[in-house]
Amino acid sequence: MSDEDREMQRRARDFVDQELIPHEVEAEMAGGRLPPEVVEGHRRRARELGFGAITMPKELGGDGLTLFQQALVQEQIGRVTNGLGWVVHTPPAWLAAVATDHQIDTWVKPTIEGDRVECYAITEADAGSDVAAIKATARREGDEYVLDGEKWHVTSANLADHVFFEGVLTDGEHAGSHALFVVDLDSPGIRTVRTPAYSHTLADHHPILDFQGVRVPAANLIGAEGDGMRFVYEWFRYERLMIAARCCGAAERLIEEATAFAKERVAFGNPISEYQAIQFMLADSLTELWAARLMTYRTAQAMDEGADEKLQHAQCSLAKLYASEMANRVADRAVQVFGGRGYMRENVAERFYRELRVERIWEGTSEIQRVIIADQLFKRGVDALIG
Ligand SMILES: Cc1cc2nc3c(=O)[nH]c(=O)nc-3n(C[C@H](O)[C@H](O)[C@H](O)COP(=O)(O)OP(=O)(O)OC[C@H]3O[C@@H](n4cnc5c(N)ncnc54)[C@H](O)[C@@H]3O)c2cc1C
Repeated sequence: MSDEDREMQRRARDFVDQELIPHEVEAEMAGGRLPPEVVEGHRRRARELGFGAITMPKELGGDGLTLFQQALVQEQIGRVTNGLGWVVHTPPAWLAAVATDHQIDTWVKPTIEGDRVECYAITEADAGSDVAAIKATARREGDEYVLDGEKWHVTSANLADHVFFEGVLTDGEHAGSHALFVVDLDSPGIRTVRTPAYSHTLADHHPILDFQGVRVPAANLIGAEGDGMRFVYEWFRYERLMIAARCCGAAERLIEEATAFAKERVAFGNPISEYQAIQFMLADSLTELWAARLMTYRTAQAMDEGADEKLQHAQCSLAKLYASEMANRVADRAVQVFGGRGYMRENVAERFYRELRVERIWEGTSEIQRVIIADQLFKRGVDALIG
């Protein structure tokens, strides 16, 4: 870690510990929502600290962080519950390289400046892990595309103003392949089917959206026809690594809080930290956190060094699989250390116990990560992946 990396990590940690964590319980009790002026204050502070758009290059007004630095910041963001850390904005990094001038001016720059918010509509009722099985369509008509389909779990759609929509092309040279479009959410034909409740308590909801005959200019196509899956894979690589980083942050916070509690809580005349059963839960947690952190940091550094794309893909899966499963084990143990208090919503372990569960599901389930890792293992061997 360079001095600059270390300073950035400290800046992110102070922001999370001093400005975000104090609002967690208030958010939990209010359905994830904080007063608008508080959220705006957090957003403004994130931008002042250089965390406004950490994924985006400086030329476009982003923060220009290396992937390793992004992982350091995201690790700190992972320390806070209720999605309060999402004020650190992460627009898709791959977009900068493929967006047209019109797209840069209309969506990318305003998003970096904090004036627009995006969401992603890939998953469908019958296509989650198997992204290739989506049924939503994109049909070319003159200078427009017509989009149809129903999308599930569209995170942040209630707060966003545009959506990245993935559809199967119905005609033309690329018929049957996928294409990705940027679509303003107020376009005629987009309807919220319903907003299901989820385990966590976040201001960002995950509604089901219906797209019926939604017309968008051809200029809203991202990249070329047939590029859709390429962008999805790029997003997966990034987000899997950042999930690993956030899980490390969550586990660190849980271990700190459970350790402090164990030293103070007295049962049968002794602090529970003197009982081996409690010591072993915390020792296992710390050991696993260190392993996950090393995997995450090393993968981020390898990506900054320009590692081969397939290797990056496999290592992001290794890090995401291990770190997300580790954080869930740590949260389970932390609840146990806190005893009855660990089952109260005002307790950090209770909130993380619910919130971390999805880390083993979204951006590819643990099973899908194992499928990717095994596939690469058989094709390339042990040394190529972790040598
Ligand atoms: C809170 C939340 C937010 C989300 N946000 C978004 C979003 O913003 N945009 C978006 O597009 N999507 C989003 N998703 C969708 C998410 O990415 C999918 O839920 C995830 O990829 C799993 O797909 P699925 O739910 O359809 O499960 P399925 O694919 O139906 O899987 C069900 C089970 O089968 C297993 N399985 C499937 N295939 C295999 C296999 N080949 N081998 C072994 N096991 C297998 C899975 O691991 C899982 O255990 C979100 C989901 C959640 C829960």
